[in-house]
Amino acid sequence: TMYFDKDASVTDIAGETVAVIGYGIQGRAFAANLRDSGVPVVIGNRDDEYRPDAVADGFDTRSIAEAAAAASIVILLIPDEAHPAVFSADLAPNLRDGDLFLLAHGFSLRFDRVDPAPGLDVALLAPKMFGRPIRRRYLDGSGVLAFVDVVRDATGRALARTLGVAAAVGFTRYGVLPVSTATETELDLFQEQFLTPLLLDSVRVAFEVLVEQGCDPVAALLDMHASGEMAEMMVEAATIGLYEVIEQQGSPTCRFGVQRQLGTLLGEDVRERGRAILAGIRDGSFLTALEREAAADYPSLERYREDYRSAPLTRAHEEYRAVLRSA
Ligand code: NDP
Repeated sequence: TMYFDKDASVTDIAGETVAVIGYGIQGRAFAANLRDSGVPVVIGNRDDEYRPDAVADGFDTRSIAEAAAAASIVILLIPDEAHPAVFSADLAPNLRDGDLFLLAHGFSLRFDRVDPAPGLDVALLAPKMFGRPIRRRYLDGSGVLAFVDVVRDATGRALARTLGVAAAVGFTRYGVLPVSTATETELDLFQEQFLTPLLLDSVRVAFEVLVEQGCDPVAALLDMHASGEMAEMMVEAATIGLYEVIEQQGSPTCRFGVQRQLGTLLGEDVRERGRAILAGIRDGSFLTALEREAAADYPSLERYREDYRSAPLTRAHEEYRAVLRSA
């Protein structure tokens, strides 16, 4: 069963103040939606890059420890690798019995990176969307999907309170699906580590084959990607079905061409990679690699940034944007 607006109410968190810890991709969207739903919000952010944004947006902005102390619901919205240190130094000492501690991704619970005290309500409320649409769709009256899992119910009201937050952020407009923390963690990491690279690389490979065979880079980029046609196809497909969109919108030439290659391009080796990636998520190898990367201040992220900035596809996109700007 899924929870919708009729199953949740902001009145279940009436009189409570919510501390949004971190004012980044998720924090900013959560905070704005909570405030517009009439929920008292305090932002906790260290005195760093994002703090001025929270202040400029008119929020009561404090240190992480002070924000946690001022609230009875605390949502931790900083990068997962930073959770252990911030949780033990700033949150644990300021959470009181009966407070609700929320995470937006199961990672730190699944891998025991935080250890909330027994008197706390603990739940996962995981948006299945990045930050901007969470805000945009709240404003247009819709919402985005979230997963929920009550990990500990100390007060007997953990689910009602979590759904109260979900309603205030707009998740129950779309639907909130109960999913175990372990499953949410695996799904999220698998999407990032298998599906997302497959999608990005398939665009890049298509582009590179065309350019190598003499096609104009900007025309290739537009047709494969930058026109938004493929993105639109996936958006429609998300509603009516992955194959249905080709059925309904494709010409016979298109349908014939698509069905002729479907199932032939990704071999058993790709599935095998998928299984290995999932195994590495489950057995903690990915966790170890991530923590090592974070401890060294993200050297491979830096390398990858340099690589993609100088890639032919990125250059073609810059060329195209320059054309648009000059128009
Ligand atoms: P961001 O990278 O946008 O977080 C940035 C915020 O975290 C800023 O406020 C920043 O403050 C603060 N921050 C960063 N490092 C530290 C640190 N070491 N100590 C204290 N504060 C720190 O994170 P996201 O919004 O992407 O992710 C937040 C949570 O939401 C994560 O658990 C993530 O898994 C989950 N999530 C994210 C989704 C997404 O689309 N991004 C989707 C669903 C869930 P400053 O720089 O000012 O110090």
